[in-house]
Amino acid sequence: MSSGARRPFELRDDLAKLPPYRAPQDDAPIRLNTNESPYPPPDKVMAEVAEGVRRLPLNRYPDRDAQGLRRALSERNEWPADGVWAANGSNEIIQTLMLAFGGAGRRALLFEPTYAMHSHIALVTGTGVVRRQIDEPWILDPTAVAAAVSESEPALTFVCSPNNPTGNAQPVEAVEAALSAGSGLVVVDEAYGEFGGVSALGLAGKHDRVVVVRSFSKSWRLAGVRLGYLLAHPWLVEAIQVARLPYHLSATTQLIGETVLRHAQAALAAVTEIVMERERLAKELARVPGIEVFPSDANFLLLRTPVEATPVWRRLAAAGVLVRDFSGVPGLERCLRVTVGTADQNATFVETLRSVLNAGEEA
Ligand code: PMP
Repeated sequence: MSSGARRPFELRDDLAKLPPYRAPQDDAPIRLNTNESPYPPPDKVMAEVAEGVRRLPLNRYPDRDAQGLRRALSERNEWPADGVWAANGSNEIIQTLMLAFGGAGRRALLFEPTYAMHSHIALVTGTGVVRRQIDEPWILDPTAVAAAVSESEPALTFVCSPNNPTGNAQPVEAVEAALSAGSGLVVVDEAYGEFGGVSALGLAGKHDRVVVVRSFSKSWRLAGVRLGYLLAHPWLVEAIQVARLPYHLSATTQLIGETVLRHAQAALAAVTEIVMERERLAKELARVPGIEVFPSDANFLLLRTPVEATPVWRRLAAAGVLVRDFSGVPGLERCLRVTVGTADQNATFVETLRSVLNAGEEA
C-alpha cells in the first residue's frame, strides 16, 4: 500500500494523523510475528469445509443471525445462544461494541501496554481513550483498576487476558473491581484464553455488564477465516444489533465455524503442544546470554534483549526470522515478541538470535 501520497480530500480531523494498523506481512521463511498457529486446521475440517462450500446457496444472503453457528458456540461454551454473537474476527466484535456503546462523549479505559487495536478502534469510532500505564510484570492491581474506573467513568473498560504483548493473564479480581467501581461495560479480551489464565465467563454469569471476547484466529488455527465471538448477557446481543451491518458474516465463514466446532477436539489438540513448546522455548531463551524472558499464558513470549532491540529485529528478519519489535512502546524498551512456532522454527529462532547477538558483540 502506498503511503505519503497527497490526498485530494482530507480525512476526518481526528484521524488525519492516526497511522493505520500495520504488521509486516513479508514472505520470511519463518514468520513468528502475528501470533497465528503454525499448524493448518485438521485435514478432516478442510475436507468437510470443501464439501460444504460446494453445497452453499451462494446466490442467497447468509443467515443474518448466524443461528447455527451461535447454537454451536452456545453448546461449546454452555452459554445461552441469545447471549452469543459472532463476527469477522474479534476485531469486528470490539469495533461493534465500540460503535454501539462508545462514540462521542464516551470513553474507553485501557491498561497499557496492551493490544494496540483497542485504542485504535476507540479512536476510529470517536470514542475517548483513557490510558493507564501498568508496570512490569503488568499484572492488574484491582485497587488501581477500581480507582481508574471511578476517576474516568468509562463506558467500556478493557481487560486483555492473557495480555498482548506482555503474555500474562490478568486476575479475575481486576474485572470484578472494574465492575464494582463503575456502571459501564467490562470487556474481557480472551483472544488467547485457550492457552492459559482463568476465563471471566464465570463472572459474566453473575454480572450483566461483562463481555467476554474470543477469537478463532489463534487456538482454532483459523486466522485466515476471520471469525470471533462474544459471550454476554442476551440484552447486550440484542442491543448491538443496531450497529452491525446486515449479513455481516458470510455463509462461508458460518459454515467453517460450524464445521470446526464439530471437530473441536482435533482442532484444539495443537494447544497442548504449543503450550509445551512455549515452556521449552522460554527455557531455551533464558539460556541465551543477556536475554530476559517474561512468563506467558499465551502462544507468544515477550523477551528483552541486552542491546537495542530494533537492530536485533532487523538482523533476525534479514536472516529469515520475522518477530515483532515492541521496543518503541513505553515500558517495553528493548522488547521483542515471538510467536511460538513449531519445534524446528523455535530452534531456528533461538539459534539465529544467538548468532545475531554474538555478531553484535564482535562488530
Ligand atoms: N485481541 C487480541 C488481544 C489480539 O492479539 C488479536 C489479534 N492479534 C485480536 C484481538 C484480534 O484477533 P482476530 O480479529 O483475528 O480475532
